Amino acid sequence: MSDFFTHLAAPGVQGLRPYEPGKPLSELQREYGLSEAIKLASNENPLGPSPKAIAAIQSQLDQLALYPDGNGFELKRALAEKHAVAMEQITLGNGSNDVLELIARAFLSPGSEAIYSQYAFAVYPLVTQAIGATGRVAEARDFGHDLQAMAALVNDKTRIVFIANPNNPTGTWLKSDELEGFIRDLPNNVIVVVDEAYSEYIDLADYPDSSEWLALYPNLIVTRTFSKAYGLAGLRVGYAVCGVEIANLLNRVRQPFNVNSLALTAATIALQDSAHLQQSFALNRSGLRQLELAFDQMGLSYIPSVGNFICVDVGRTGQSVYEALLQQGVIVRPVGGYGLPNHVRVSVGTTAELERFIGALKHVLDRC
Ligand SMILES: *Cc1c(COP(=O)(O)O)cnc(C)c1O
Repeated sequence: MSDFFTHLAAPGVQGLRPYEPGKPLSELQREYGLSEAIKLASNENPLGPSPKAIAAIQSQLDQLALYPDGNGFELKRALAEKHAVAMEQITLGNGSNDVLELIARAFLSPGSEAIYSQYAFAVYPLVTQAIGATGRVAEARDFGHDLQAMAALVNDKTRIVFIANPNNPTGTWLKSDELEGFIRDLPNNVIVVVDEAYSEYIDLADYPDSSEWLALYPNLIVTRTFSKAYGLAGLRVGYAVCGVEIANLLNRVRQPFNVNSLALTAATIALQDSAHLQQSFALNRSGLRQLELAFDQMGLSYIPSVGNFICVDVGRTGQSVYEALLQQGVIVRPVGGYGLPNHVRVSVGTTAELERFIGALKHVLDRC
């Protein structure tokens, strides 16, 4: 392949490696001719979205010729109520990845720096590098964020600190007092992004809802998504909650219709279906236990996770186990790209899907 145009690209773009998503089921079916495959690779909700959200978008299909509400009024109103903030403090995104990119576009430029942890969500380095800004990686502690190591990297050029709570792919999390202490001690001209993509799965007493701290820390941005517990990954909708001044800046770089009309409706209705969310939570809890028990029985160590996924050490390259599992019609996620060459990440599926994964994993590990 020629690199003529690559030399013309913006410097940050030249060095980028695109995000590697979980393998879609349709691709496995095409490549391996398997029809009964299961996907446990992208932390999707095995129950799907709220049936009420599906019904709501079905009844709206005759309005697809119209542009969506570019201000997302109804959804913002519902989210403002949920977080006890003003509507002006909500910024909607085409998935929370979109919001992360808006934050990077608004605050980073070549010469400035962003801080994130080793093993942290891959989108933080991506959005940082795309702009040509410099990423600083703090070494992890027990696979999780080491806040002291992160604080030690702050300097005059630091504009953003990205924190995933919990982190993907490791499932590690930060307690309320340690995280708030970190934010309190940060210079107030450094933006701190707390990415809470999995918060709905966690009911631990000292796990924080950081949006409660917004009045105290004007440099705080909290991001959430409808892709995980709400089961709406295919529609792409997420959001940021922050102070009004920062929200206005994010809106300057936001595309006018970045969230489509079906996504707006589905998310608004999904927020009202607490029974479905509770069911998703309960299934995830039992699925995590099911996986932990199986790994214990197989003598495999894993990184304790509070998300809807878990990273297990398979004692050989994760890539080889990933490929062998594909042959069995099970898609998981190799995490060598994160610096975890002997782990694979498996998402919590239904009880039956996890049974099948466990059987396939035993089979694969027995053979190689
Ligand atoms: C899945 C995930 C997201 C959500 O991405 P969307 O763009 O909202 O689908 C954000 N942050 C982390 C850490 C994730 O794992």
